[in-house]
Amino acid sequence: MLRLVDLVSRETGVDVSRIVLLRHSTARIEKMEAHGLSVKEHTPLKSKGGEYDYDKHGDEVVVVIARDRVEGVYRVLGIEAEGTFRTLGSGSRVSLEKDLGKLDKPARRFRLQLLRCSAENRLVTGWTAPIQATLRFQEDRSRLFWKIEVDAPEQRLLDVETAELSDRELEDAIKAGLLRIGMVATATAEALVQQRRGADVLRRLTIFNYQGQCAVCDIAETNLLEASHIATWAESPESRGMLANVICLCSFHHALLDNGYWSLDDHLRPVLKRGVQSETIRNLLPPRMVFRKPLAHPPFAEFVRQHRVKHGFDS
Ligand SMILES: [Zn+2]
Repeated sequence: MLRLVDLVSRETGVDVSRIVLLRHSTARIEKMEAHGLSVKEHTPLKSKGGEYDYDKHGDEVVVVIARDRVEGVYRVLGIEAEGTFRTLGSGSRVSLEKDLGKLDKPARRFRLQLLRCSAENRLVTGWTAPIQATLRFQEDRSRLFWKIEVDAPEQRLLDVETAELSDRELEDAIKAGLLRIGMVATATAEALVQQRRGADVLRRLTIFNYQGQCAVCDIAETNLLEASHIATWAESPESRGMLANVICLCSFHHALLDNGYWSLDDHLRPVLKRGVQSETIRNLLPPRMVFRKPLAHPPFAEFVRQHRVKHGFDS
């Protein structure tokens, strides 16, 4: 079993405090269906100011649970429209809300993006009485939010040095977060070659993930692009092959990251070291510097936090 919020946080890169778990009761789903409405259609349109108002609660990711399975994991991109269920709803939604007596209640339609997440369709356990419709982060680890789990599929970690993998299999293993590099003592030349291949595929995927450009500047010359580990090779051996631990950076920004001249906050905004004397370095780290997020596997918040702590940004 796997804690649902940990899995979603790891794969989306969103902190657990920004995740809302939303569970529809079977009675409610049956009611929706009686009006010809699907759960998917229901998710973006919610009462304003209430328990389901994603904006009010600062939710970045919504995990929808229906019939005890994860129906979908969505990123909240913003508010698309405000009005009432009467003005914003489809025919079937209007019919449902009329039945519930909420037709003229203030409502918001959100722009949502369906994310690829391995939690999708998996069985959810732990959501016991009292039945709550939404669960949000609470510091107290004994709360229900922390007890919701999903069944885990069989996942086997692969060591690049010992597994005989084609380039395609290497790619798939890296994308699934299952490849380990350098965990096996590399006594043989053959093992070192395999390790090199793993690192090469990781670099290629990283460059692709960041669309062929340094994440914080305009350098797109492939010979200057590097796969930069956030938690370093030595500190975090088990995360060496994880895309969420690797950023595509040019050689300059890679060296400056490794030496603590800059880092990222929990929202992946650059934070810069103060009091740097060198004008050249200051020019490389302008105050308006922006981190461009990758296509998938954004830096995992925990790795970023470790990097900040190590270089004294959080003290
Ligand atoms: Zn750069």
